[in-house]
Amino acid sequence: MLVATPIGNLGDLSPRAVEALAAATCVVCEDTRRTGRLLVHAGIRGTRLLVANEHREAACAAEVGRLLAQGATIAVVTDAGTPGISDPGERLVAAAIAGGHDVSIVPGPAAAVAALVISGLPTERFVMEGFLPRRGRERSDRIAAVAVERRTVVLYEAPHRLARTLADLAATCGHGRPVSISRELTKLHEETWRGSLGDAVARAAERDPIGEHVIVLAGAPDEEPASDDTIEAFGRDALARGLSPRDAASEVATAFAIPRRRAYDLVQRARRP
Ligand code: SAM
Repeated sequence: MLVATPIGNLGDLSPRAVEALAAATCVVCEDTRRTGRLLVHAGIRGTRLLVANEHREAACAAEVGRLLAQGATIAVVTDAGTPGISDPGERLVAAAIAGGHDVSIVPGPAAAVAALVISGLPTERFVMEGFLPRRGRERSDRIAAVAVERRTVVLYEAPHRLARTLADLAATCGHGRPVSISRELTKLHEETWRGSLGDAVARAAERDPIGEHVIVLAGAPDEEPASDDTIEAFGRDALARGLSPRDAASEVATAFAIPRRRAYDLVQRARRP
């Protein structure tokens, strides 16, 4: 059974979560000290703890499978929030299902949903992006996809990378894109700031962001998809600026969020006299 735990405020631990943790033969967690403190808070003592952090989830899944086969009741928690949401959980669930075991949940806090619903941005359809890749092509491709996403996008970010991520998002999505940034939800210094990406970049540069943050980004405005002629003209301009065909194609692919193959073909067309 997955059990959601508070994202800051221990008062958010639900009575049903306490029941499930108390009834479990074994609690799977990321950090025994942190979960140990939660169990003490809930008045639960003597429960066996098993660690499944990002390095140990696969190994732990095998052990959980053995315990379930022996009839054990397993509760899975993470350091905060809902297991499986940018946290271990997915592999354990898949392994339990593959082993023919029942999987259920005690639902509860998830920073993404909490930040989304107070963002003031559309909530009917949204995308959970979690943490962006930290560097390279993987990161730029993901940001390019975020830039053209029509639905509201929810991102997690560490405080020391927040300024850089906001700057990268502004460069690709445009400085005017509305954004809501929630910090330290349910904690003493909870705060939600709403404005444009450009203002968010300036604000993050003014003072070092502290604490846990969720970025909720408005979806891309409705637009006609760019025609081949428009893209080709953009590619011609990139070539005229001295970019190699490969770099021009890469810039075109990012700017129009189109596959690299199509961008390359249109840049080749732009090179023809
Ligand atoms: N499983 C968790 C959940 O359900 O929200 C997310 C775990 S993920 C490893 C941690 C990230 O969640 C943080 O870097 C931050 O982006 C976000 N987060 C967690 N708690 C938060 C809080 N109280 N306020 C704002 N963001 C939070």
